[in-house]
Amino acid sequence: MHLQPDFMVERIWDISPQRLRAEGIRFLIIDLDNTLVDWGQARLRGEVERWAKQCRELELSICICTNARCKPRTARIAARLGAGYLSAAGKPFAQAYRRALELLRADAPETAFIGDQIFTDTWGANRLGLRTFLVKPLSPRDFPATRLPRLLEQRLFRSWRKSCLLYTSPSPRDRTRSRMPSSA
Ligand SMILES: [Mg+2]
Repeated sequence: MHLQPDFMVERIWDISPQRLRAEGIRFLIIDLDNTLVDWGQARLRGEVERWAKQCRELELSICICTNARCKPRTARIAARLGAGYLSAAGKPFAQAYRRALELLRADAPETAFIGDQIFTDTWGANRLGLRTFLVKPLSPRDFPATRLPRLLEQRLFRSWRKSCLLYTSPSPRDRTRSRMPSSA
């Protein structure tokens, strides 16, 4: 089971769009709840809007990929970010990521996936060969069924932190792609 993300960051806006472009990434598939917005909310934080604007300016195309079934909310958020979207996507199954790649007309090697859950977002995206970023959940609120996975995630976080390569600075000078030394 390849669970480890390529990168861990605190927040989505810590990921440098300039660096992504410099490293050949042109497409972003992004989870919705607790990654782009607080869980179940439609309001976008200013930091997220500014980050998405930078992405647009650098011609990074975005597709929101969420398992949430509330299509109107996802559509409104996507419109504000100038993004495409998939709701009720069915992560971590491969079809969810393939549909997002099709929507973007993207190939896996030039696509990154950003999400807050190891067992859905990261695991599924790793299987498709996308570059994976794991962010900390934006809010403590969560879907009730995610409580058990969250406990397991906490254990993984702790063990990965000991192996140190979890956080990378978004400095454009640092072109080294940090990989975790072993998979979980
Ligand atoms: Mg999420």
